[in-house]
Amino acid sequence: MGASFKEESCDILVAGAGVAGLSFALHCADLYPKAKIVVLSKGGSEDSNSYYAQGGVAAVMDLDHDSFEDHIEDTLNAGDGLCDEAVVREIVEEGPSQMRQLMYWGLDFDATSRGLDLAREGGHSAHRVLHVKDHSGKSIVSVLLHRIEQHPTISLRYHQQADSLLKTKSGRCAGLRLRTSTGYQFIRATWTLLATGGAGQLYRYTSNPEVATGDGLALALKAGLSLEKMAYIQFHPTVMINSGGRDFLLSEALRGFGAILRNDAEEDFMFKYHPSGSLATRDIVSRGIYSELASEPNRKVYLDLRHLDQEVLAHRFPTIIQQLKEKGLSPEVEMIPIAPAAHYFCGGIPSDVQGRTAMEGLLVAGEVACTGLHGANRLASNSLLEALVMAHRAALSLGEIVPMDLNEEELEGLDTPKHFPMVDSKLRYLQQLMFEKVGVIRDEEGLKAALAEIDFILKQGVGREESTLADLALENLLLVAKSVVQDSLDQEENRGVLYRSDQVLNQSH
Ligand SMILES: Cc1cc2nc3c(=O)[nH]c(=O)nc-3n(C[C@H](O)[C@H](O)[C@H](O)COP(=O)(O)OP(=O)(O)OC[C@H]3O[C@@H](n4cnc5c(N)ncnc54)[C@H](O)[C@@H]3O)c2cc1C
Repeated sequence: MGASFKEESCDILVAGAGVAGLSFALHCADLYPKAKIVVLSKGGSEDSNSYYAQGGVAAVMDLDHDSFEDHIEDTLNAGDGLCDEAVVREIVEEGPSQMRQLMYWGLDFDATSRGLDLAREGGHSAHRVLHVKDHSGKSIVSVLLHRIEQHPTISLRYHQQADSLLKTKSGRCAGLRLRTSTGYQFIRATWTLLATGGAGQLYRYTSNPEVATGDGLALALKAGLSLEKMAYIQFHPTVMINSGGRDFLLSEALRGFGAILRNDAEEDFMFKYHPSGSLATRDIVSRGIYSELASEPNRKVYLDLRHLDQEVLAHRFPTIIQQLKEKGLSPEVEMIPIAPAAHYFCGGIPSDVQGRTAMEGLLVAGEVACTGLHGANRLASNSLLEALVMAHRAALSLGEIVPMDLNEEELEGLDTPKHFPMVDSKLRYLQQLMFEKVGVIRDEEGLKAALAEIDFILKQGVGREESTLADLALENLLLVAKSVVQDSLDQEENRGVLYRSDQVLNQSH
């Protein structure tokens, strides 16, 4: 490729335009009015996990019926012994002020005449989830974007893909190198925040959009940082599988409403796996569906809504029913094809409760980070809470912005991506491999086989000059996949979302 090189510099550089990146930029603009802030997004305004969040944000807003202690206890219970209790406390206690900040920025959470309409979700002991109908994420992102447009010091740029961290000879992060369709661009920065989200695209089925290829995680690995708790990936049991399109999430509330899981022989198969059938908990249902899919060649699993009152269903789940219709499916006459799908990465780049990482000058916030809040499993609606609180804390931690003298000679651009011949088929192969061997149920034999396959594909990458943006995404996914497999092999007991059929279950289960 005849590469072109462009250069610029700024004070604060953000990779990611989801809730974490956007709210961090807004806090920085308020705290440091003279700072030049650049926010990059690999996709457009809708390409983030944040945009697709349905349920809402967990925070203690009603002290008459809820308490910080209860939210902390629920979070620790979900995290199954692997949370950092001090971090949980700090994030939970800052929740209400960040909700008020969102409202100040212009967000109207759903409310009744008595105040906020707080929902109760699985694992929560109280009504504490603030929401905007069933499109909370979209509403939050819209408010943040609207606010950013009014800030002349923030430059938001879409379709810009960060491909490596720049660092000084002394090891300080000094910005990002971007990959464009025509070459490279270097943006030097005093402070860099990675808010690039998760890596659901590692799996054949995922609730995450196409941009979720774990880029931030891979950038950190390439820069010599380590990742933590990568084995702990939350799978959502019921994602509609949509051949040729984006898989989309079918809320677990549908099963509470009476929807039944069936196989292609129309059997209510979940009773084979648990006495509660389709109403068993998320992890048990995911494992039941996974086992059922593996039980026979070409076995398929569906969610059956045919017997339900269709009018009430459409009223209660307007977005879901509309999406099904748009895909040409009629829930009143046909079953909906589903699979358990990669949903949320509990692990990530380790950070302290100010968002600081092991590399000076580099901060992280949101799903890419591993703060210690989630432990071995994320409590529903705690991820948007974490993204908002940590974005604020990371912004505060910068202190005074002293522009750095980042001369070109001082910088090291890091790895260049490899070229993978037939990248599309390799990507599909990797996604299937991860689903089968590193999915809802794992064992040592499968994990070792997956590791060997991943290493084999990584070794096949050749030549730096011909590599494309797709090569970069594949290389990132391979590096993240390897980290997930290695961490899964290292675990000696099953906790939270991690289930190895050859390991014992944590005693507290
Ligand atoms: C369908 C769905 C429903 C969910 N529902 C809820 C819910 O109700 N409540 C809750 O708390 N959580 C929910 N979650 C999880 C939650 O949405 C995410 O964990 C959270 O939004 C992550 O925010 P983020 O800002 O860290 O990352 P994201 O919102 O994923 O944003 C990542 C950003 O980084 C950009 N990016 C990626 N790679 C690069 C690169 N190389 N260069 C530049 N930019 C890059 C992307 O384009 C994007 O703008 C849900 C997730 C999904 C998928």
